[in-house]
Amino acid sequence: MNIAENLASLRKELPAHVKLIAVSKTMLPELIRVAYDAGQRAFGENKVQELLEKQSVLPGDIEWHMIGHLQSNKVKYIAPFIHLIHSVDSLKLLSEINREGEKAGRIIGCLLQIRIAKEETKYGMTYTHAMELLNSSEYKSLKNVRIRGLMGMATFTEDNKQVSLEFKQLAGYFRMIRQQYFSTDAWFAEISMGMSGDYRLAVEAGSTMIRIGSLIFGERNYNK
Ligand SMILES: *Cc1c(COP(=O)(O)O)cnc(C)c1O
Repeated sequence: MNIAENLASLRKELPAHVKLIAVSKTMLPELIRVAYDAGQRAFGENKVQELLEKQSVLPGDIEWHMIGHLQSNKVKYIAPFIHLIHSVDSLKLLSEINREGEKAGRIIGCLLQIRIAKEETKYGMTYTHAMELLNSSEYKSLKNVRIRGLMGMATFTEDNKQVSLEFKQLAGYFRMIRQQYFSTDAWFAEISMGMSGDYRLAVEAGSTMIRIGSLIFGERNYNK
């Protein structure tokens, strides 16, 4: 695996409006450093402890993205520096992010994770649940979070039609929510969808952020 070459060919292929998040979960800081030296600045992690360990030894201008399920009691550890939390799936979590954002003197960028896959195991809210959150007076009172868009993961399947449909569904939700709640808010602009196996379909469907791990770093070894 040549990390720099992998990054270069991905960048060459992506339209300018699509941001590449390098998913570095399970990868050692040395490998992240190689990607950094090749110009990559946005990295995604899915575990708070691992994120903290890496953040403490890697350059300060890295933009860290939290892409995995986040427990409320761990928000405080990442609030001082996290760039964007892709996995907000409840008002309770958003309120906690707001509280810790206030303590840290920051406005923390968040995406609402919407469940689009058929699998039961995927985290995320339904579209209806997301609208309930946005309609709530509690949400409207939060000053230290900024919802910047939606995130979703498609079903893990070879059926490209199904995957494409799910991405288009998420893009549709994004447009409806933007029109109804964010029509005067230019910050609401991101659709985080697409991984190594399905990013082309995601980009076709309107993705603005793809989260790529194995295509950059190679297969993950969870037994290490
Ligand atoms: C691991 C992970 C990715 C990247 O997966 P690859 O298939 O290695 O590109 C993207 N998004 C989330 C939420 C992940 O957990």
